Amino acid sequence: MGMGTHVAGIQVHSAVPSTTDPQAPIWHASPNYGPRRDGLKPSMIVLHYTAMNSAQEALDRLCDPVHEVSAHYLIGGYGTLWHMVREEDRAWHAGAGEWSGQKDINSRSIGIELDNTGRHPFSDLQMRRLEQLLPQIMHRWSIRPYGVIGHSDMAPGRKFDPGPRFDWLRLERNKLAAARGQNDGPLDAPIDQFRILAQSAGFSADVDDETLLSAVRLRYRPWATGPLQSADLVPLTARS
Ligand SMILES: [Zn+2]
Repeated sequence: MGMGTHVAGIQVHSAVPSTTDPQAPIWHASPNYGPRRDGLKPSMIVLHYTAMNSAQEALDRLCDPVHEVSAHYLIGGYGTLWHMVREEDRAWHAGAGEWSGQKDINSRSIGIELDNTGRHPFSDLQMRRLEQLLPQIMHRWSIRPYGVIGHSDMAPGRKFDPGPRFDWLRLERNKLAAARGQNDGPLDAPIDQFRILAQSAGFSADVDDETLLSAVRLRYRPWATGPLQSADLVPLTARS
């Protein structure tokens, strides 16, 4: 992206009105964005962890034109919410990948970064702020729980965030992510059937069996190790 984009971005951002709402996000403009392609509107929300030591460090990076990365929102460990790119615009958070047969995830999504190194739990304050923000975005763009995914779901083998410590079940219980299947799996676990179920659950990226299994486990069974088990198929079966 050239300088023209950055200059245009600053002009757009300066038009955002200030507010006195204490729950309102802190506007901290990133120059790293562009228009959504093909007139696309957000139909997904992609969750990330920053893998950085502090929210300030992440904020600096996500707003630095040199790095050409961004997200719409950043939530700090104490629940502070920064808004960096307007939801109408295409932030640069997802990169190469695919979900449910759809590519150019940046044009189709809102990106939320969570201040977390990837090595420790997500704080309750941070999760609560996320649970405030998600329904607002979902309502604005008519995004279903199915559309709330992790970066690792759409970029298996390349990305691992929001990682094994992220509490997906908590989001599922609050209908902020698709509920996992609870049905008993088949007694055996043929890899072909696993691939079909994973594909129909949205994991459509073209990756090998092992990478796919790792990505599905990261979302549903991050403690699991070893070869495919029938339990790996259960969360992918018919969902409530
Ligand atoms: Zn990410």
